[in-house]
Amino acid sequence: MPITTKYKKIKLLFLSLILLTICGVSYVNIIGQKKELFIPVVGANIKSWDSKSYWCTPWGKSKVHKGIDIFAKHKTEILSPINGFILSAGYSENGGNYLYILGPKLRIYYFAHLNTQEKHSFSFIKKRQHIGIVGNSGNAISSPYHLHFSIFSFFPIVKYYSGKESQGWMKMFYLDPVKSLITS
Ligand SMILES: [Zn+2]
Repeated sequence: MPITTKYKKIKLLFLSLILLTICGVSYVNIIGQKKELFIPVVGANIKSWDSKSYWCTPWGKSKVHKGIDIFAKHKTEILSPINGFILSAGYSENGGNYLYILGPKLRIYYFAHLNTQEKHSFSFIKKRQHIGIVGNSGNAISSPYHLHFSIFSFFPIVKYYSGKESQGWMKMFYLDPVKSLITS
């Protein structure tokens, strides 16, 4: 392939990537955050979590709590709040049995401390489909049973930037689940 053609292809790819990033960033920033998800733990309501626990610090090894803990009885059913694709289903020291699900708007939903691992990575999941049961695996072993739930945005949401809080710049890449969840 002549060098000029190769150069043109690389240039085109680079420009496409920039365009995709601009579109993605514009999209997530214009759409913003709407209440759109039902609470993934069956029978839970807005009293099932501490609304001040999102971005609470200090918080163990992660320093900042980038999600909420939805408290429930042991083995309460957990349902997927989205149609998505399971990027990873596994076990980690902190999260215990966890799931990362890619959902609409390139958002990643993180579920941790499940009682057991029932799902497989690289599989599709439907909204309201069973994804597991509440437990205390990982570093929640001495905590009351709960589901740790976080929402991560692939593209930065500029309005969530916070210059005052610990790791405040990272807030651009997270959504506050308290504001996103509805009871239905
Ligand atoms: Zn948590």
